[in-house]
Amino acid sequence: MVLPEDTLQSIRDAAAIIASSEYVTCLTGAGISVESGIRPFRGPGGLWTEKGEPSMDGYRRFLRDPKGYWERRLENKSEFGLSLSDKEPNPGHLSLARLEEIGVLKSLVTQNIDNLHYAAGSVNILEIHGNSKWYRCIDCMSRWPNEEFEVKDIPPTCPQCGGLVKTDTVMFGEPIPRKILERCFEESERSDCMIVAGTSATVTPAASLPLIVKRNAGRLIEVNIRESEITYSCDVNVFAPSGESLPILVEEVEKLA
Ligand code: ZN
Repeated sequence: MVLPEDTLQSIRDAAAIIASSEYVTCLTGAGISVESGIRPFRGPGGLWTEKGEPSMDGYRRFLRDPKGYWERRLENKSEFGLSLSDKEPNPGHLSLARLEEIGVLKSLVTQNIDNLHYAAGSVNILEIHGNSKWYRCIDCMSRWPNEEFEVKDIPPTCPQCGGLVKTDTVMFGEPIPRKILERCFEESERSDCMIVAGTSATVTPAASLPLIVKRNAGRLIEVNIRESEITYSCDVNVFAPSGESLPILVEEVEKLA
């Protein structure tokens, strides 16, 4: 698909801002993984829009019955977990990895749990909602890739501290690991430009990160398929799929670098 001229112009405007910024960061959400075949939770075609919102007290229920949680998990992996297992990064993920590789993008905060930014080659990633391919101890916050953690007892406990182990994915009602959250705020405070891609940034705490950049007189670039809650806070709005617009954006930045 060839993007319309006004979209291409907004991409060039965005590239100019990025090239003239000192500390560029990015916030991504479900929209960036849609082109990898991962369904968003909310909005048109959303998993929850179709099947209803999940229970909002998942973490409390886990704490009440961790054995039951693990039995269910080992019996039938959740539909969403299975749907993630064979997915590949798309050109949007690859472009952000490239932007980091050329020294422009300093860090990337994602609300996604699908591991696709790592798969694309990004390095400095802050996963605000965890990663579905890892397990984590809820006490000392040690983490292990799923395939390297042997589940001996149900529920499994941490080899380091004996704490309860669960998926690294942050459940409803579960606090976001404090160190990750602190780093997200630090990175936002340092940013003079943030790219907000594939998210309407309505869910806190992610929603507050672009506002920190704005408050510090930094500039915001939106990459979304349509207008969102953040549209009017942004300096440039690129309304196009991220898998189509981000490769052009990186190409334009490389011309200016
Ligand atoms: Zn532990």
